[in-house]
Amino acid sequence: MTETIRWTAAETASAIADGKVTAVEVAQAHLDRIEAVDAKVHAFLHVDADGALAAAKAVDDARARGDELGPLAGVPLALKDVFTTKGVPTTCGSKMLEGWRPPYDATLTRRLKDAGVVILGKTNMDEFAMGSSTENSAYGPTGNPWDTTRVPGGSGGGSAAAIASFQAPLAIGTDTGGSIRQPAALTGTVGVKPTYGGVSRYGLVAFSSSLDQGGPCARTVLDAALLHEAIAGHDPLDSTSIDAPVPNVVEAARNGDVRGLRVGVVKEFAGEGYQPGVLARFADAVELLRELGAEIVEISCPNFGYAMPAYYLIAPSEASSNLARFDAMRYGLRVGDDGDRSAEEVMSLTREAGFGAEVKRRIMLGTYALSSGYYDAYYGQAQKVRTLITRDFEAAFGQVDVLISPTTPTTAFPIGERADDPMAMYLADLCTIPSNLAGNAAMSLPCGLADEDGLPVGLQIIAPAMADDRLYRVGAAVEAGYLSRWGAPLLDRAPAL
Ligand code: GLN
Repeated sequence: MTETIRWTAAETASAIADGKVTAVEVAQAHLDRIEAVDAKVHAFLHVDADGALAAAKAVDDARARGDELGPLAGVPLALKDVFTTKGVPTTCGSKMLEGWRPPYDATLTRRLKDAGVVILGKTNMDEFAMGSSTENSAYGPTGNPWDTTRVPGGSGGGSAAAIASFQAPLAIGTDTGGSIRQPAALTGTVGVKPTYGGVSRYGLVAFSSSLDQGGPCARTVLDAALLHEAIAGHDPLDSTSIDAPVPNVVEAARNGDVRGLRVGVVKEFAGEGYQPGVLARFADAVELLRELGAEIVEISCPNFGYAMPAYYLIAPSEASSNLARFDAMRYGLRVGDDGDRSAEEVMSLTREAGFGAEVKRRIMLGTYALSSGYYDAYYGQAQKVRTLITRDFEAAFGQVDVLISPTTPTTAFPIGERADDPMAMYLADLCTIPSNLAGNAAMSLPCGLADEDGLPVGLQIIAPAMADDRLYRVGAAVEAGYLSRWGAPLLDRAPAL
């Protein structure tokens, strides 16, 4: 049974469909693994053993009846604690929502359940998805399975750590500025930010609505594609959901090929601040793509240097408005309601006690950037920069089919190292933010270990909006190329927990 936890999602689903193992046995093997290692990793905020076993039993019953099983039926999954789950705690890593059990499922949660996916529990995250290390969680940090004294990235560090430590074959993340891709890079896993609007935001607790996007986390490109297909597609409950067919990501993942493809290397994502081992592995990836038959072109995106400042105006502005709903009246925490205090006083005491330092910093920054008199200078200016970044992408995709870069400038850093330096923390998303601002699709997948610290490095692939399938076609080719070089998946080299 120990082998069960190392299967891919695709292997797990076919073992269940073929009757080699039951879904209940698979769920139990993962619950046992969580029991054995999560005290060290802290990937989960809540484990729903009863719910998981009941969902697994439903899959076994369906099979016994002879019902047709979907491609992920019975496969366990770790869900980022930012998606609502009916009756199951949803905290967003915040004290503000401690003990809240939502009365409804997010569309993504519903789709997972409909697909027979077994939700094991909810994963740790930076409070309201604000951060790059998972240290901003009100419930303590998550450790990187490669070295538990280091961060797994953020904000979805719990989801990435869960799959990297074989506590689940699949996980869900959200990516507002990099929170799926950056943790994937730091943990040696695969993460995809779908095209904005490709996966419903209904029931995703909002951070920055024009940037937030749910997406798949997995250990292989094919697994990510299977999960992507299960959660994507139009949702009338989300007004920004795209009403068009989902690109055929699974077919693309099964047919990895880069022959004749034009691949652009983003010139701006290199140089000062990039770890030598990251640049070396990226150079290897470029070489691999060339060997596999891609045409490599250098591309300049001159406005990408302004992406970070623009993001740190737009995201906090939207957050300051979205987080106004935590007013101590409707749900979650309420502090100081002794019968004498006014609603305003209770609201203020609650927000003081319920939000952590980073969330408060963003609310203050965002409120300032949106205030009359400063709006044009800050928020308005940032929106103009956003347009320039979108134009850089348009020009680039006029010349190439996909763009590539390192996913992050450095490998996993020690817990605590950047905790008191927000600017250093923000730099972790330097390469991922432009795609959120433009709304296009991007993937991170492992491209080896850095020489100086032996930690995973991520390769980022970026495709135009609604061309998510290109990520998988390229990703699958690169993954197969590495597998034949390395002889085994990168995660096999992670130290035992
Ligand atoms: N690290 C970025 C931030 O702190 C991105 C977070 C995210 O994608 N949710 O805002």
